Amino acid sequence: MDIRLDGKAALVTGGTRGIGRAVTLGLARAGAAVLACYRTESEAADSLARELKSLGGEHRLVKADVSDPAEVTRLVEECSAAFGGLDIVVSNAGAISHIPFPELSLDEWRRIIDTNLTGAFTLTQQALPLLRPGSSIVYIGSKVAMVGLPLRAHYTASKAALIGLARTLCKELGPRGVRVNVVAPGIIDTAGLPPERTTQYERIISLGRLGRPEEIAAVVTFLASDLASYVTGETINVDGGT
Ligand code: NDP
Repeated sequence: MDIRLDGKAALVTGGTRGIGRAVTLGLARAGAAVLACYRTESEAADSLARELKSLGGEHRLVKADVSDPAEVTRLVEECSAAFGGLDIVVSNAGAISHIPFPELSLDEWRRIIDTNLTGAFTLTQQALPLLRPGSSIVYIGSKVAMVGLPLRAHYTASKAALIGLARTLCKELGPRGVRVNVVAPGIIDTAGLPPERTTQYERIISLGRLGRPEEIAAVVTFLASDLASYVTGETINVDGGT
């Protein structure tokens, strides 16, 4: 079934690299007008701008740090000026680090929580006035929220909290016609893992391979679409069976 998002406007954070880039392109190819946020000036942002231009349509790239509430306000104002409203919000920007729990500093805990959780909170609250009935919010969580992993207490806590946030907001925002869901990726091939790590992971994944960013984007595109009009408060694992 061909999923179409014509006439819809979308905001994607962390939209120029990895999973976010695939989501931006997936939504744009389905016909949505997309504003993708990035934090770091890079060739990735420049090449995405070229790719979006070649697709045609009303797409924009905006620099913003989602851990800074003032920047999120500006980001949402840019959406308002560009599109007048929003139908799709994908909170994808995420940060991670690997630190033994006894050595995890409060500053590092806050950095990860501020980006992964508070960023999603601020974005959702600021974007709310722009959301039209039938809107879809998608948080990019993580399978680690369900299983836990050593060295990632801060990251895992932030991603688990997104599930609680979505469960609550589905109830609070449902009457406005706004759906809220989480997509929880397993191990996705974005970071150029060394071959030995890839082989280790492949052994524990039922499908025997890492996921592709486009496989996350496909599920996000479904959730963003009217085909998912009765799906809210859910967490969908996209993990190849781990
Ligand atoms: P990457 O690590 O490749 O990139 C992270 C993205 O988040 C970049 O686009 C980055 O922007 C953006 N970002 C980070 N901090 C901020 C910030 N403060 N403000 C704005 N943007 C920020 O990401 P992945 O594609 O691997 O991951 C995307 C999402 O998927 C994340 O939430 C991650 O936790 C989640 N995930 C990924 C998995 C994987 O295996 N790859 C597995 C499970 C979940 P910029 O480059 O401009 O700095």
